[in-house]
Amino acid sequence: MPEVLSAPLVVEFPFTRSLGPVQSAFLTGLRERTVLGVRTGDGKVLVPPVEYDPVTAEEIRDLVEVAATGTVTTWAWNPDPRRDQPLDTPFAWVLVRLDGADTALLHVLDAPGPEVVRTGMRVRVRWAADRTGAITDIACFEPYEGDADGSRPAPHSGEFTDPVTTIVTPARLDYTYTPGRAQTAYINALAERRTVGERCPSCRKVYVPPRGACPTCGVATAEPVEVGPRGTVTTYCVVNIKAAHTANLGIEVPYVYAHIALDGADLALHGRIGGIPYDQVRMGLRVEPVWTEGGRYPDHYRPTGEPDADYDTYKELL
Ligand SMILES: [Zn+2]
Repeated sequence: MPEVLSAPLVVEFPFTRSLGPVQSAFLTGLRERTVLGVRTGDGKVLVPPVEYDPVTAEEIRDLVEVAATGTVTTWAWNPDPRRDQPLDTPFAWVLVRLDGADTALLHVLDAPGPEVVRTGMRVRVRWAADRTGAITDIACFEPYEGDADGSRPAPHSGEFTDPVTTIVTPARLDYTYTPGRAQTAYINALAERRTVGERCPSCRKVYVPPRGACPTCGVATAEPVEVGPRGTVTTYCVVNIKAAHTANLGIEVPYVYAHIALDGADLALHGRIGGIPYDQVRMGLRVEPVWTEGGRYPDHYRPTGEPDADYDTYKELL
């Protein structure tokens, strides 16, 4: 059996959100080295603040300033920091109840090792040198020798010059993908510009791409079956939103993305349709793959010029 493939994959996008009055004040406050919380109807101080009372759902806007010192309420040691985590040396994830607050804030504690971290330990904010109005304006917490002074948090207007009103949060998921035996064979065949599925020994359906088992019969599939290269458009959509990813930047909108049933396959796969105006693509259109130099899968599919397929030949494949 050939070696099963494995590859690093990354899903990444920037998430832009508007803040509203409470989060705007909180994050702008961090930029100005001021930690703000919000007081609920029953007098509790929530840090980080929220816009609505978690108990009564009432809108709350009563901002107060709490201390930059606090107490660890619970923690977990992270021996192996990952990319873009707040510290690049081992650290503790901590929930910190800042002095004056009734709830705890999730952040990190810079500590030499887990043996010095304990619930109840006193900590203080270490401010980032460059602050932009983000939770990372708190670079981390650090151990602090000193008790809370017990004073009540002071009311705060929440007003600052040049308030932060939106933030961009990068979302990123990187992982190692292993496609398994069936898809490894499929991908290796694609490298030779052949499309190979697998037939179910029970219902005889040919799955492309193969997943290694028939989802209907629940049995393993093993018999390789070469399908295509030609196929039929079973259904499609017109894409009007330009892709943000560099790999797809060259594709002009609108374009058509289709389900294509390759000849001999009992499952449609996905592909982009080119070589024909987008508004002339139709169900039943006969297409063939177009490969680019060095490509490991078809760049797109184009019309073959054959007459359209009869609906009856692909109606089970929609
Ligand atoms: Zn089956």
